[in-house]
Amino acid sequence: MNRVAGATWGASQDLLKMTYTTYVRPAIMYGCETTVTASATAREKLEWAQNVALRSITGAAKSTPIEAMRAQTGIEPINVRVDAAAVMLSEKLKRTGVPYWKNYTPPQARLVSQLNFSSIVGNKAQELNLDLGIPEPFPQDSNYPPFSYDLDLIGDISKSSALPAELRAAAIQTVQERYPPSEWLHVYTDGSSDGAVKNGGAGIYSAIFEISEPVGLRASNFDGEIVAVQLAVREVERRRLERVVIFVDSQAAILALGTLRPSVRSQVICDTLRSLQLVREYGGVCHLQWIPSHCGVRGNEKADRLAKEGARKAQPNPPRTLHTVRREIAAAVKCYNKNTMEEASAGKDWEILATEEGHIPAFLPRQKLVALFRMITGHDYLQKHLYRIGVVDSPMCPCSLEEMDARHIMECPALEEIGGIEPGEVACEKYWAARRLMNEMGVG
Ligand SMILES: [Zn+2]
Repeated sequence: MNRVAGATWGASQDLLKMTYTTYVRPAIMYGCETTVTASATAREKLEWAQNVALRSITGAAKSTPIEAMRAQTGIEPINVRVDAAAVMLSEKLKRTGVPYWKNYTPPQARLVSQLNFSSIVGNKAQELNLDLGIPEPFPQDSNYPPFSYDLDLIGDISKSSALPAELRAAAIQTVQERYPPSEWLHVYTDGSSDGAVKNGGAGIYSAIFEISEPVGLRASNFDGEIVAVQLAVREVERRRLERVVIFVDSQAAILALGTLRPSVRSQVICDTLRSLQLVREYGGVCHLQWIPSHCGVRGNEKADRLAKEGARKAQPNPPRTLHTVRREIAAAVKCYNKNTMEEASAGKDWEILATEEGHIPAFLPRQKLVALFRMITGHDYLQKHLYRIGVVDSPMCPCSLEEMDARHIMECPALEEIGGIEPGEVACEKYWAARRLMNEMGVG
């Protein structure tokens, strides 16, 4: 990475970070899950490798605190990622149905050094403040014939390009013309949740039945949508209804059912597919049609209200799918990183970097970003900093009026000529001019 960026030239932080996270980090982390059991020294090596990359991304001086580089780039300690990956692997194993892992309770270890993978992973999950609940085993029966669904509207109107009024018109036209109410029973489903991550609800509305159910403490919108379809199809099957269209406002939910992607495969999805199969067996038709949400289709609004009503009922805590757990682990890593970052930055010169919008814009040209980052952290290679780390004999500026730091160069008479248009630009220009000046004087 050092080949694509020096201090004053090269790629932006955005691009360097992307290069690191897509190409370098996966290589460092490849097969890393088992290193949770490795010694602290071995784990330090991973962190060291990442720190080299962080320094190159930010153009930071050698002495810069690692936390400041993490705050600027938003990259978490690599061992937190390793821990999360190990927890994820263990959650996967618990769901495979292999009895050894399913019923595995770690034996009592006598010494710390005897801790095994499972108990260490348990500790890591605790450190990340994770409550992963009961695992839902991967479904074994997943061979269901495809069912029929449509993701398009009449007139080829797409959600991203159409105006709300056009979308609404196309949705109503699709509902009425493709599925004449004289021939089809219209069933609307919807899911809801708090902040898209907890207290899920499922709502189903039709002319002949309404359902409103809680979905789970940790259920997302997506879970709500899927359970709504499940309950709708189950009701269609129970009532032996013959020609039914279910309007679903989540393309993700329809695709999850339609493609049976292994990453989202769950008991609820398999149960829905089983019910759809049963409908076919008694000669019924149950078709899924996507419609846009919140565009004033009456049945959809009613299903939405029923879903919210369901979410307010007493919530069950059903076994969790890998999909849910993956989301929770990612959220826990984010939260852990935010908390530790706040702690590490409290009272530091670079505290601002750790705040929500406080870091230096990552798209800035390399030269500016490096200058600003160095000046904010105080690890700036200016005379005072070099003196502090024992590289030079004096902290004084070549102008010999004051110690040379980021504040002084803004006022230094030797740099008076240097300027820029915006305030940040002035500082950057002065910084590099100051470094040139130091070079001329034979320091730095
Ligand atoms: Zn000066």
